Amino acid sequence: MQKKIPCSAERLGLLDPQMIQAVSDASSFQIAHQYLTANRVRIVEADDSQITAAVVGHSGLYEQTIRLKDGHLVSKCSCTLPEEPMCRHCIAVLLEYQRWAQPQPSRKPKPAKGSITAPPVASSENGKGTTPHSVTPDVKLSEIMVFLEWLEPATKALERQEPLPSPPALGPGAALMWIQTIRNLEEQRRENEEVMTNLESQLKDRDADIGQLTQQLQTSLREGNAGQATTQELQREVASYKEVLATVSKLTTEIVRHIAQMRAVTGDMQQKNSQLEKLVCSFKDVAEALQSAVVLPPH
Ligand SMILES: [Zn+2]
Repeated sequence: MQKKIPCSAERLGLLDPQMIQAVSDASSFQIAHQYLTANRVRIVEADDSQITAAVVGHSGLYEQTIRLKDGHLVSKCSCTLPEEPMCRHCIAVLLEYQRWAQPQPSRKPKPAKGSITAPPVASSENGKGTTPHSVTPDVKLSEIMVFLEWLEPATKALERQEPLPSPPALGPGAALMWIQTIRNLEEQRRENEEVMTNLESQLKDRDADIGQLTQQLQTSLREGNAGQATTQELQREVASYKEVLATVSKLTTEIVRHIAQMRAVTGDMQQKNSQLEKLVCSFKDVAEALQSAVVLPPH
């Protein structure tokens, strides 16, 4: 949709953010500023009378052409938004061009249609929107299209956790770098997943080991308890044997005492026996004396 705004600026580079904001719808300008911050704007070709650009919008990539012609700013965008007097994409492109056209020591101007005459730095009070930061004006629209074509199946593959599609034939540049970065991240994710799987299986092994050790420990505890019971029984047996031994030793002492008594009695008996023998001898002597007295006749 082509839109025309009267414009007194002689060069596109003279349009500072405040001037752009003044002619823009407030919410469109805000969204455009967000696009700028998110680095979604790419200047394809530019000079001070015409800008060709592309913006990655919320629902796809849109292409813009903005011209300064006969005192009018003529903007054209491939989107269908009814925003007036300019769509958010064209506003974002103008803002990006402002930034892009600022003199920066490290940047080499693109030799497009004529050279870009850097405009004098707009004397804005707060300098809002003119903060210099890295931009990549070398990315070609065709490369972005190839990248987006690759991105769609790649996103699906990522969602399904399938391998990424092979990269398209691109020359060295930002698009190839993006693809490579995505591929590297995916590779890292896969590696991390493998490490996780390994760790999980190790954890399972450890769990199994711990289960086995717990069982062994329980068995050992049961055996220990049984052993303790046996020991207590043995201790009880030893105690009863000790009692028996004490009784035996008491009996032995008594037997020894009885033997001594018996010996004493035997000694007494022997003594009495010898006295008896002596008595028997005396009786014999008396008997013989009596006999001899009886035998002699009286005369
Ligand atoms: Zn648009």
